[in-house]
Amino acid sequence: MLAINNIEVVYDRVILVLKGVSIDVGDGQITTLLGANGAGKTTTLKAISGVLRSERGEVTKGTVQLGDKRIDGMRAHDVTRLGLVQVFEGRRVFENLTTEENLIAGGHVQTAAAVKQGIDLVFSYFPRLKERRHQVSGYLSGGEQQMLAIGRALMSQPKVVLLDEPSLGLAPMLVEEIFGIVSRLVKQEKLSVLLVEQNATMALAVADHGYVMENGRIVLEGPAAKLRDNSDIKEFYLGLN
Ligand code: ATP
Repeated sequence: MLAINNIEVVYDRVILVLKGVSIDVGDGQITTLLGANGAGKTTTLKAISGVLRSERGEVTKGTVQLGDKRIDGMRAHDVTRLGLVQVFEGRRVFENLTTEENLIAGGHVQTAAAVKQGIDLVFSYFPRLKERRHQVSGYLSGGEQQMLAIGRALMSQPKVVLLDEPSLGLAPMLVEEIFGIVSRLVKQEKLSVLLVEQNATMALAVADHGYVMENGRIVLEGPAAKLRDNSDIKEFYLGLN
């Protein structure tokens, strides 16, 4: 579904941050990208979604393929139109808008009927958002804002969703709830997800496949079950003992 092939990314024309990264995101699967702070995970997502262009970053080598289309070098809104959307770290909901208004903003290129259908779909997966549909989103809890950020992304009817650290700052039970919903979405709505996480234990529990990144390179990859059991990974890359 999504194939990243040997990409290099440079910031400000000189700072080489990704040094040849290749990742395959399988159809209808959750693929996780793990690694320490500053390894280059967020940069990888931005290179895929096209957001990098507005941050003085550039893909200087390699390709990004979405289905049969090459999307490297495309603008973010064109990439979204082709069915790939990024949910940012830190959630970035419109704080002055209500839950429902945020969702409507996420579906802005569609007909009224499609927007309504989208909202119904989001509320069916996130009943908490339905309960808070008229609440100004700045007052939602961290977990609810994360749900809203994912819900808003779903409004563009994506085939591929890039999720950047959805667990950040949330209590473990909430993380479990959100990951459970993401798993159901993947199965029932036939989504493919690339999940960037620091919380390796949680990510490997829901993922099908995993990659570990270090200093701008992929240093390990494999089925999630295998990575979970690999003691080297636990110790050296994931900080688990
Ligand atoms: P974190 O978990 O802390 O977000 P990460 O693995 O997502 O880490 P990135 O955010 O991709 O890492 O950062 C990788 C490297 O690129 C870091 O050294 C960072 O300082 C650098 N970097 C990120 N954004 C920019 C930018 N806009 N301009 C210059 N350098 C940047």
